Amino acid sequence: MDHTYDDQNIFAKILRGEIPNATVLETEHSLAFNDISPQAPAHVLVIPKGPYVCFDHFAAAASDAEIADFTRAVGEVCRLAGVAADGYRLIANAGRDGVQDVPHLHVHVLGGRRLGRMLSPVS
Ligand code: 5GP
Repeated sequence: MDHTYDDQNIFAKILRGEIPNATVLETEHSLAFNDISPQAPAHVLVIPKGPYVCFDHFAAAASDAEIADFTRAVGEVCRLAGVAADGYRLIANAGRDGVQDVPHLHVHVLGGRRLGRMLSPVS
């Protein structure tokens, strides 16, 4: 997959402060904010501040400090979103088959209701 970063993507604009977001958590290397179109009572997106397209790009190219910060931010968001006790789902869509809409790595933190089975049949 092509890991060329498009700095005009919507999350790059959020990181530059060009469009607003409802911040849940900000750390040195990560930002978490509510999804604009929530699919569950709790739906938070966690992104690294660096220009990484998807998870495998981030895992290969980010520094240890960025990876540690991001991993801890996702865990902290689970607590802040109130889903750590009853459970949650993490999703990181990537590329064509993952149906990724925004080409900046993001982990969806979903919870607050029973989420159903992991995947729906593809029509
Ligand atoms: P993807 O399909 O790439 O995994 O998910 C992209 C997510 O970004 C979607 O859940 C969508 O609702 C969310 N999103 C798209 N544009 C914006 C925006 O401008 N602000 C916020 N907070 N979320 C957005």
